Amino acid sequence: MKLKLLLRFVASLLCMSQLVFSQTKLPAKKIDALKKELVGEIEKEKVFTQQMVDMVFSFGELGFQEVETSKYLTDILKKNGFAVQEGIAGIPTSWMATWGSGKPVIAIGSDIDCIPKASQKPGVAWHDPIVEGAPGHGEGHNSGQPLNVTAVLALKKIMEREHIPGTIVMWPGVAEEQLGSKAYYVRDGFFKDIDACIFTHVASNLSVSYGDGGGNGMISVKFNFTGESAHSAGAPWRGRSALDAVELMDIAWNYHREHMEPTQRSHYVVVDGGDQPNVVPSQASVWYYFRERTYPKIKQMYDDAIKMAHGAELMTGTKMSYTVLGSAWPGHFNKPMAEAMYQNIKMVGMPEWSADDQLLARAVQKEINSPKTDQRNRPIDGLDTKLDSLREPEKVSMGGGSDDIADISWNVPTIVLRFPANIPGLPGHNWANAISMATPIAHKGVTAGAKAEALTLLDMFVKPQIIDSAWAYFKNVQTKDTKYIALISPTDKPAIDLNKKIMAEFRPEMKKYYYNPGQYKTYLEQLGIKYPTLKPAGVTKTATAASTEN
Ligand SMILES: [Zn+2]
Repeated sequence: MKLKLLLRFVASLLCMSQLVFSQTKLPAKKIDALKKELVGEIEKEKVFTQQMVDMVFSFGELGFQEVETSKYLTDILKKNGFAVQEGIAGIPTSWMATWGSGKPVIAIGSDIDCIPKASQKPGVAWHDPIVEGAPGHGEGHNSGQPLNVTAVLALKKIMEREHIPGTIVMWPGVAEEQLGSKAYYVRDGFFKDIDACIFTHVASNLSVSYGDGGGNGMISVKFNFTGESAHSAGAPWRGRSALDAVELMDIAWNYHREHMEPTQRSHYVVVDGGDQPNVVPSQASVWYYFRERTYPKIKQMYDDAIKMAHGAELMTGTKMSYTVLGSAWPGHFNKPMAEAMYQNIKMVGMPEWSADDQLLARAVQKEINSPKTDQRNRPIDGLDTKLDSLREPEKVSMGGGSDDIADISWNVPTIVLRFPANIPGLPGHNWANAISMATPIAHKGVTAGAKAEALTLLDMFVKPQIIDSAWAYFKNVQTKDTKYIALISPTDKPAIDLNKKIMAEFRPEMKKYYYNPGQYKTYLEQLGIKYPTLKPAGVTKTATAASTEN
């Protein structure tokens, strides 16, 4: 009984200190003045921002192989007083960079990996790779970290001068295209002391949303079969084909599809189907993504697939094992933080696009056969000029893509700032999505995003009530009935060998095109590209348009 009373007393003391802590630390007028200064500072850093965007674009590194990108970014952060811990969660290209002291601790992240076969000359309105067949930033992940670095360095100056307490933690989304890192960061405790997280992702508008994002969560699993090789003509009866097992598993899954809910997405590639026809394949593997709207449904797909893989193993007399290569929860984002961010988005507004920016955008949309309207029925015609509204949760969703930022969003109040560095109406995961990413479109979009982020961070550091309400929403709304259960097990390991071979093949040639800001003002200048480069009137579309979607 005494203990209970004591606990209650301590709890009430904590409540009181929370109230004191919750008051805004600076007068409104002062905050406004600091915000104006921040916008001005970020505007002054435009060249530095452009150089970072162009540099990361030129590295074009696939998931888990972001060696140059991580080195370049952490060097900048180290030079600016950040303490950098490298190789976190057993991922060599990962890191956490920390600056400041005390509460709140705000984590700021963005992805850094690129897309296979998406090499593309920036500013050229048709498929024209820098290095044929090489990876490239066909998702625009070269822009988010430059945005974060710009925002944070401008804010850091002000925090130092004004003695604003708080800690900034910067981190990269490694191998986002494989949903490969963020669940591991969470599992290994890297987000346990974080008070809030802002994530940035390229888009074609400056926007933020909250609640259920409408996307799917997923688990990525590779099924490996081992059989027995034999001469396919001389003694096929002595062989046990691992490829047969892969094919039977795929057939089973494709029959199963008919009886699944329409929100599911599942897709696979055969990563090893044997070596040559006259050798019965002793090794074969198939790599699946299983996506659904909720954890139990994703888990059900995963369990069903394991059963089918065992069935295929039985039917073929082979041995099966499986490896998890990545995972993501369905996203849910924080309302109070999104509302705070949206006020700043309105203050910043959309960038001013030049006639050349619009010419490029329309030419690319024409080249790629963009639809006339987007999924929300808004017209697609050049670059967006009007700000999007604050997006509310999707009421009905038919499912869609995934992002492992969701795993962080179920552990720490999180929002995703989307910024206008790309052209609307493109297919995604495609060379076309790389065209704008080292041009004035991306440069201006990143500067606008950096302003919105820096202003919101300032709000969060000087108005503790934002973080208090963020946690109230997180506890009382978001996680009231849904509890996070990791899709990865305690023993699953990040798939850090993915993409090693592809990068080894292409890196020597790609190196010749790394951006050299000492010699060239922009990457466009280095590549000798006139901005924008459009097809002369009368030239028909290239045969490759819209046919290389991944
Ligand atoms: Zn992405």
